[in-house]
Amino acid sequence: MLSNLENIRQGRERKVGTANSIARTKKKDSMQHVAADAAFMTTLFVNLYMIGTRDSWVLVDTGLPKQGWRVRAAAEERFGKGARPSAIILTHGHFDHAGNALDLAEEWDVPIYAHELEMPYLTGKSDYPPQDPTVGGALAEMSRLFPHSGYDFGSRVQALPHDGSVPGFPEWRVLHTPGHTSGHVSLFRERDRVLLAADALATVNQESVVTLITLERELRQPPATFTTDWGAARRSIEQLAELRPRVIAAGHGLPITDNAATRLETFAATFAPPPKGRYVRTPARTNENGVVELPPPVPDPVRKVLVGAALVAGAGTMLFALSRRSRPRRRPTAKRSKRALRRVDASKFNGR
Ligand SMILES: [Zn+2]
Ligand SMILES: [Zn+2]
Repeated sequence: MLSNLENIRQGRERKVGTANSIARTKKKDSMQHVAADAAFMTTLFVNLYMIGTRDSWVLVDTGLPKQGWRVRAAAEERFGKGARPSAIILTHGHFDHAGNALDLAEEWDVPIYAHELEMPYLTGKSDYPPQDPTVGGALAEMSRLFPHSGYDFGSRVQALPHDGSVPGFPEWRVLHTPGHTSGHVSLFRERDRVLLAADALATVNQESVVTLITLERELRQPPATFTTDWGAARRSIEQLAELRPRVIAAGHGLPITDNAATRLETFAATFAPPPKGRYVRTPARTNENGVVELPPPVPDPVRKVLVGAALVAGAGTMLFALSRRSRPRRRPTAKRSKRALRRVDASKFNGR
């Protein structure tokens, strides 16, 4: 079912992509291009990017867990058998972006880079602040099932250089864009003004189930349920708007190329956080060791309903089990006794 969904999306993307004149040269691989040497693939609802050429490339984010085999296959399709990048760069460590980082890094024997403020969540020091399903929208509701735990990539992971460079790729710049997470980064290349914004914003409305499927392109807030500092998120969007990108490619949604700079400028100028939610008025406080202080959870009526339903279901199961246990045992019928007798006799015979 998942692959059908992705086929539908890819078919749609091919059509829309042509209309938006995304550089999609003759079909060399199944990835979608944002530049001749930058392409993305999607793991269900999360994008990951490969930038560079066959001789030298990096993987930016790694997609949902258990999808490493797809990433490897796409890399080999794009760059040739045995293709391996020079490094993996994580825009941040949420499970949907870092899900295959360690597996791929081990297999390819390459380093993982992330911003130094993201390190506590990638070295086993801290979990992320919990998601906020009360912030509203389809994805927020679904996020009840998502983990917010950190990873421990040990010595595989290291901090990105302080000068904002991408190791081995001098044209690309790393921009610290906190808000969604404290160490979130985006990537930008001045030459063709391609912006890989990751979760600093989204190019799809994740609040609606319909647009989550159709992927209609629209500049939207960062994935709200995991965004824990809305003031920083707004400032990051303003910072990205100043770049006047020609292409905006995010962690969720399809790339925006039509009038991208003006649209982002308007979006930044009118940006407002969600009206309610745990982190809307008070951000999570974090530092180089991870979470320091969290605002208290807000009342969650849906959670109450779910917990209530679980309790009712649990109590029902228990009553059913008890009623069966207290039911008087049926006396064996003559027929059943005879069969039991035969089994005993047979076992005696076999035991000899
Ligand atoms: Zn995220
Ligand atoms: Zn994400």
